Amino acid sequence: MPVAKNCLALCYRKNTKDMKNFIYLAFMSLIFSMTTSCKCDSHKGGVSGGWIVDRFDDVKILRYNVDGFDRLSLGDKLYLYYLSQAALSGRDVIYDQNCRYNLAVRRTLEAMYEANRDGHKTDKEADSTQWRAFEKYLKKVWFANGVHHHYSNDKFAPEFGEKYFDSLIMLTPSNMLPLDYGAQGELVRMVKRVIFDPAFLHSRLNQKAGVDMLLSSACNYYDGVTQHEAETFYAEMIDHNDPTPVSYGLNSRLVKENGRIFERTWKSGGLYGAAIDKIVYWLTKASEAGNSQQKAILNSLIAYYRSGDLRRFDQYNVLWVKDTVSRVDFVNGFIEDYGDPLGHKASWEAMVNIKDEEATRRTEIISEAAQWFEDNSPIDAKYKKEKVKGVSAKVITAAILGGDCYPATPIGINLPNADWIRKEYGSKSVTIQNITHAYDEAARGNGFNEEFILRPEDIKRKEQYGQLAGNLHTDLHECLGHGSGKMALGKKGGELKNYGSTIEEARADLFGLYYIADPKMMELGVVPSEDVYKTEYSSYVMNGMMTQFCRIRFGKDVEEAHMRNRKLIAEWCYERGQADNVIEKAVRDGKTYIVVNDFDKLRALFGELLREVQRIKSEGDFDAARHLIETYAVKIDPTLHREVLDRYARLNIEPYAGFINPVYKPVMESGEIVDILVEYPTDYIGQMLEYSKNYSFLPSKN
Ligand code: ZN
Repeated sequence: MPVAKNCLALCYRKNTKDMKNFIYLAFMSLIFSMTTSCKCDSHKGGVSGGWIVDRFDDVKILRYNVDGFDRLSLGDKLYLYYLSQAALSGRDVIYDQNCRYNLAVRRTLEAMYEANRDGHKTDKEADSTQWRAFEKYLKKVWFANGVHHHYSNDKFAPEFGEKYFDSLIMLTPSNMLPLDYGAQGELVRMVKRVIFDPAFLHSRLNQKAGVDMLLSSACNYYDGVTQHEAETFYAEMIDHNDPTPVSYGLNSRLVKENGRIFERTWKSGGLYGAAIDKIVYWLTKASEAGNSQQKAILNSLIAYYRSGDLRRFDQYNVLWVKDTVSRVDFVNGFIEDYGDPLGHKASWEAMVNIKDEEATRRTEIISEAAQWFEDNSPIDAKYKKEKVKGVSAKVITAAILGGDCYPATPIGINLPNADWIRKEYGSKSVTIQNITHAYDEAARGNGFNEEFILRPEDIKRKEQYGQLAGNLHTDLHECLGHGSGKMALGKKGGELKNYGSTIEEARADLFGLYYIADPKMMELGVVPSEDVYKTEYSSYVMNGMMTQFCRIRFGKDVEEAHMRNRKLIAEWCYERGQADNVIEKAVRDGKTYIVVNDFDKLRALFGELLREVQRIKSEGDFDAARHLIETYAVKIDPTLHREVLDRYARLNIEPYAGFINPVYKPVMESGEIVDILVEYPTDYIGQMLEYSKNYSFLPSKN
């Protein structure tokens, strides 16, 4: 389920499965597209405007509103409350999945923090600086669910010294430390190595060609297994004649012990069993509070968590995808495989949400016309679906974020991931509007538009229609783009390997870009003006060719699939349109600007590229995928990169954002819950420490 954001967004996607994704988040996206509508200075000055509750490093923490919660029936409120508890109960899992040392490191740092925070105020300025650096490091670990950056996957570099670490640990009582990891000496040595040795586990996810991606990645999905061994293991397991294949390897760690390779399954009584049992406990409560359809869905999910049987997971998904009417819905499970270099293993994530009935009308209109879009798409007729099925789309309000969706979160989701279920039963696609709204609000007046957009008319268009355009592009990407097209006979979808995610995201993005400018959109009444697609086109190519580089460290390549996809599309169109000056790189006073001069021709180029990208996917043309991506999507011009980073730094905008969750409080009367109230805390550190205290169910070593 990815999200595609126009600007930003990252829909998350699976490498090998057909159309999926999540849309991760959107940090920037928002920044880009949404950022601008009013000139109040709520962002620049720090934590202000009410939306930003904390800022550190390259991150800001926002709050989000859960509009509509108060209007839910008590039954729905209870259902939501129990699901929210289930969503928080798997938090430890994602830490351990991201790196085997994360839980021990987090707990050690938290113990040091709590033992020293009252006493750190010293008259020595150096100590105070070190303390702030220590606190910042811990905030980053919480944000990333581990010691690696959530987006770049690089290990964090501490800005405090080992000596300072030693001085804090000396003042930390042993009984506060996670000694279930090992004796204190061993624990401290390991934690220090993880934090201070830059070469040790330096990347969470390494997908560079030519290296063993498993041995060089710090993620914890494989233990002692080489890439070749894992590939062989799954190649032998996969039954290509099975019309309803399970998602092989989705819910397990693959380990090698005494020469034998086998899966340790994540289930009750298995790996992560203690956390899964808590999740099951709350899902059971939710089941008791739900209607008959909700009960059936949850009981099916519970049966899967208890057994670890992936057939049961599919059964659950079939029931889940059919429920398009519940006001309160959820995601809970091992869902997305972006964190596994081989794309088998899924990270644990959760989200509970409320349907936004009014905004959903927009996506329903688009979805109802799905077949028209498919029939009129610029792709080769032989790769069009004769019948587009079950595209359900809605706009939702996130009510709680958990696991891999917290604190950084997608702005859209499209599930389930299994291709055969999508084909037979359709998928649910959502746009998470209160999250995008929070981004927009937090970004208002941050100076981004004035710095990067050359023409006043483009700024004006973006201020008027940027938010709508971004939402519509996400709708099209999620509701229709991923679900469009079909494979050539005999092709399964895994042929593009490490280039598969980028090609899939490009396909969905191009579908959205092509159609947002179609007269059909005005006919359907969802696009009020041509300015909507124009602002999307301008923002998209500017982001793809330039502004998104602000999220990449100088000297590094573009790695992430959504970023690659955007660069690929923008650069390809720039080159193809050069003779007609369709997209212009303008330089004024030493600053580079990306300007769209011919919107019609740009749309034609999007259509042309969509046709080719669909062909590549349908035919599994690995060489063509590699050529496109390596030519247009990976390398950044260092001069432009430096310029973007400098201009961005002067704006003082954090390129990433995440969220603090609301808190749901039951109101009791005579032992019964008679209402649930929602509160909006603003203390990021407080929430993290509270979660670590109340929702931490796994041992430090798993
Ligand atoms: Zn996507």
